[in-house]
Amino acid sequence: MSERIRLAVPSIDDADCEAVVRVLRSGMLVQGAEVAAFEARLAELVGVAHAVAVVNCTAALHLSLVALGVGPGHRVAVATYSWPSTVNAVYLSGAEPVFVDADPTTGNMDPARLREVLERTEVAAVLPVHTFGRMADMVALTRCCDDASVPLLEDAACALGASLGGRAAGSWGRAGCFSFHPRKAITTGEGGAVTTDDAALADRLRRLRNHGLDPHAAAPDFVEAGYNLRLTEFQAALGGTQLDKLDRLVAARREAAARYDTLLSGTAVTPPRLAPEPSAHVYQSYVASLPAAAAPRRAEVLAHLREQGIEATIGTYHQPLITHVAARTGHRPGDFPATDDVAARAVSLPLFEGISPGQQARVVDTLLGAL
Ligand SMILES: *Cc1c(COP(=O)(O)O)cnc(C)c1O
Repeated sequence: MSERIRLAVPSIDDADCEAVVRVLRSGMLVQGAEVAAFEARLAELVGVAHAVAVVNCTAALHLSLVALGVGPGHRVAVATYSWPSTVNAVYLSGAEPVFVDADPTTGNMDPARLREVLERTEVAAVLPVHTFGRMADMVALTRCCDDASVPLLEDAACALGASLGGRAAGSWGRAGCFSFHPRKAITTGEGGAVTTDDAALADRLRRLRNHGLDPHAAAPDFVEAGYNLRLTEFQAALGGTQLDKLDRLVAARREAAARYDTLLSGTAVTPPRLAPEPSAHVYQSYVASLPAAAAPRRAEVLAHLREQGIEATIGTYHQPLITHVAARTGHRPGDFPATDDVAARAVSLPLFEGISPGQQARVVDTLLGAL
């Protein structure tokens, strides 16, 4: 049996371990200088005034919607193709999703479909996703939102380090939400953050994550019913040492992605569509597309790869068709044809810093063999 090739491997080194241990030994585990320092670095990296760290990106999305005033009786225009957190956050806020079909070549929210949705439906926010770390068409989506005077919230869970036209993911909308789950470029175990230029929104987020405490009051003052969704100090310290490596990690991902592109060129499997500029894709995942005729056999293909010791998987989820959403909305295959096609054909191949050219060749050989 040849060596197993993992789907994703976090890049954790001695500096990361030492940072966590240093904080553990300090006795200051929560609500100290580490979270504040991590937030300051994130804000600077994204090019916004504020970053608010929370326990994960799901909380970041949920709190952002609540802080934007989204709640019961509202609708949110949301991307179809994503990890279910995106639509779950809409439901958790009390609002209902209105799905916007995907661009058939990228899986990102299609601005033309968004314009149609905004013409016939009043929405309280628009929530696109930078799918697999490839930025959505933010120029066109921003124009749609501005024309309709609707706030845009970016699900940038996978897109830390990506930028389009010199503007970072997470800085285009009223707010951007990031994840530091181990499958993303940098990790704090679980972790997330909201980035925004809006000081009032940042204050509301700080209240919501911390029991409703007014962050500016001299004496404790609980001004609303908040949650407790704070990141710990040792996670934030890990976030700091991980951020030190971000450029290197993104470069390694792009390099490995380019190798897959070369290995797949001229085969039946289509590499992911290139971003309009290299900076706009950080390859949180490398997701290729099977020929349409092979899509019905995708589960067999993935099972074959697993038998050969290769952890490949599907791309992400067709949110309108996940069980609870389909039950609530009545959505069926055919309602979002571009997403039907993108989701059925997607395969995510192993990608991490340190994957070797030999391992990548084995992944592609095995994949093509299975077809
Ligand atoms: C990972 C991910 C999330 C959820 O992030 P968590 O930090 O695990 O809560 C949300 N949206 C997208 C697009 C993701 O990929």
